[in-house]
Amino acid sequence: MPDSLRPPPFVESLNNDQINQALSELADLLEIRGANPFRVRAYRNAVRTIQGLTRPLAEMVEAGEDLTELPGIGTDMASHIRELLEAGSLQLLGETAQEVPRSLTALVKLEGLGPKKVKRLWEELGVTDLDELEEALEAGRVQTLDGFGKKSAEKALRSLHAFRKRQGRFLRAKARDELTPLLEALSRAPGVERLEVAGSFRRGRDTVGDADILARVEGGEEERSAVVQLFTSFPEVEEVGMAGDTRASVVLKSGFPVDLRIVPGESFGAALHYFTGSKEHNVRIRSLAQRKGLRVNEYGVFKVDDGGNGNPRSGTRVGGECEEEVFQAVGLPWIPPELREDRGEVEAAGDDALPHLVELEDVRGDLHMHSTWSDGRNSIREMVEACRGRGYEYMAITDHSQAVRVANGLTPERVRKQWEEVEEIRGEVEGIALLRGLEVDILKDGSLDMPDEILAELDVVLAAVHSHMGMEEAEMTRRIISALEHPAVNILVHPTGRLLTRRDPYAVDMEAVLTAAAELDVAVELNANPYRLDLHDLHVKRARELGLRISVATDAHRIGHLNFMEGGLLQARRGWLRKEDLLNSLSLDELRRRLGRRGKGA
Ligand SMILES: [Zn+2]
Ligand SMILES: [Zn+2]
Repeated sequence: MPDSLRPPPFVESLNNDQINQALSELADLLEIRGANPFRVRAYRNAVRTIQGLTRPLAEMVEAGEDLTELPGIGTDMASHIRELLEAGSLQLLGETAQEVPRSLTALVKLEGLGPKKVKRLWEELGVTDLDELEEALEAGRVQTLDGFGKKSAEKALRSLHAFRKRQGRFLRAKARDELTPLLEALSRAPGVERLEVAGSFRRGRDTVGDADILARVEGGEEERSAVVQLFTSFPEVEEVGMAGDTRASVVLKSGFPVDLRIVPGESFGAALHYFTGSKEHNVRIRSLAQRKGLRVNEYGVFKVDDGGNGNPRSGTRVGGECEEEVFQAVGLPWIPPELREDRGEVEAAGDDALPHLVELEDVRGDLHMHSTWSDGRNSIREMVEACRGRGYEYMAITDHSQAVRVANGLTPERVRKQWEEVEEIRGEVEGIALLRGLEVDILKDGSLDMPDEILAELDVVLAAVHSHMGMEEAEMTRRIISALEHPAVNILVHPTGRLLTRRDPYAVDMEAVLTAAAELDVAVELNANPYRLDLHDLHVKRARELGLRISVATDAHRIGHLNFMEGGLLQARRGWLRKEDLLNSLSLDELRRRLGRRGKGA
């Protein structure tokens, strides 16, 4: 084999930066845990040495060099490095992470927060990650801690926002909360006729990088500049990037970037389509237009009758005031923004086969929520009243089972006790059916955390993974499928365990899980919590193709969370979900028949 084709040595092994990352993380975790300062310092010294190296450690080990000859590298450290090169990971790091949440290391990097302060936040306030830190800071809980004052709390919040800015993705729900007051303020400005947030926000993506606001403003220069002025001087604006006659861009205090464009009425629809995207979808529409001798861009739809002289606004304008005109020009019906990902929507529109997407009014109930019996904040009664207020026909209280100790999960005895309360409430409340439910844990071996005789008496059984998330993919897939095989299980909830911006999904073969669910007639949940939105939109689409029913449910842990339903439906729509695919669009009778069909372990 010629040398140029031979793979370089240790082609799979970590580079020096990656090794440093692992060692610094370990040092942080050890320090947060309160380890011996000399030990922590040994790791920090090693990191400093490695930063100064000009050759890859992999190469040095390969060449048989003695790493302990390097300054600051002892025998322990050298064996850590060899372990990282050979195994790609460090066992000690995994073990330490069992005791100290790994997400705390992101906090250590914030200005004004060293490991000692992070330790205090964790031990005294239960803060384990950036979101919880933000919550604690905003609620004023941090400044009361020993060693923190108002000043240092403010500094921490500022550096957290700066960090977010670098990180670049924001939960859609958070973005919405940021945009609502801004849009309200803009809508009050004279001349503002219409405001739309375009981009991935309009397409309903679970996280967004920024927001593009399009404004239609009647009047002249004076009105337009007043709108730009209002936008750039909005109190939540931290930084103004640029401010022109019809465009401005700012960054909010949270780090969220927002652009404003003032668009003339004749172009509004074209601009809305253009800035909504996705890029892939727009490419498809533009090429359809080209074939018809048209040009579609952010300014409008034009007939290319001038040979196309390079001016984007040349030719005869044939549309652009509304989005329908853009689609009409290329011979298509209007396509809902949630579908514009070039995942078959252009073809479906061409065949007049676009799905009629699910809507809020199709939802007849919520099949996943908690009460004070486990880790919820509100009593069953309060949850029932709130659901009734939303006009639901039915709801299920689904507290945790005993394996989830931190959530005060129910023992079989407490489940029976809960039923007494459920019975009482059923007698008192009219107009909504209260179903006996349970979110039962899928144990490590795939069995369920509740005896069959209890499961058999429940109206709805949710099955969920809350532990041992680090399993190999094949093992995790088997574990979940064997739980679904239990005849009492009705719905697999938060199927991949992901927490957006916080935790990746666990390794699981979703194709196998969805196929098994379809065969076993188990429904799958789309958990509407904005951090979860689990099922992923592509999996929703796949589940629908397999004929599965999807339960869009809030997993509410307090009354306010019942509002998550809207965000869940947006994700469902991105997965092409129709009313007839939604489990909780069934009438109470149909739902009962369906839930009872699997025999409840009898
Ligand atoms: Zn859960
Ligand atoms: Zn839950």
